[in-house]
Amino acid sequence: MKGEGKQAIYPGTFDPVTNGHMDIVQRAASLFDSVVVAVTNNPGKQPLFLVEERVAMIQEELSGLDNATVESFDGLLMDYAERREAAVIVRGLRAITDFEFEFQMALVNRKLSNDIVTVFLMPNEKYTYLNSTIVKEVAKFDGDVSSFVSPYVQEQLSLKYRDA
Ligand code: ADP
Repeated sequence: MKGEGKQAIYPGTFDPVTNGHMDIVQRAASLFDSVVVAVTNNPGKQPLFLVEERVAMIQEELSGLDNATVESFDGLLMDYAERREAAVIVRGLRAITDFEFEFQMALVNRKLSNDIVTVFLMPNEKYTYLNSTIVKEVAKFDGDVSSFVSPYVQEQLSLKYRDA
């Protein structure tokens, strides 16, 4: 909220949250007064984890960060950001291949809401190859994902694939 300083929203699918996502959350938390990790409830993406499960995993990860919280949202990001009176949208940029899509989204979002600024943060280079899809592929075949996600997320992945 406005009265509480500069609030940033970090939106995404987070299916599931990876160490790359957390690198971005930490950078955002050091730059802004508060950060809300906003998990999109977009059913079109057919995620592996329910939105509640994705929120719960991020909640676990945020325990050491006192100015970051997590929640889910429906509908248009910019409507949600306006309701929340956020000043900034944070996105992660891993590689040049992210750029074109992110650039387009940022410009569309600026048209929708001129006052909200999109900021791109780069993770530590060791996370630049990492995405949730790769993590799921490796976990599905029982590969070692311990350097990509937290032990808690690792456990949730093996439970999910064991039950599947
Ligand atoms: P979306 O479906 O919105 O792309 P993701 O969960 O895939 O949701 O990603 C959310 C945000 O986190 C995006 O800005 C994405 O570029 C960024 N991101 C994803 N993985 C990484 C990573 N390994 N390092 C840095 N940023 C990342």
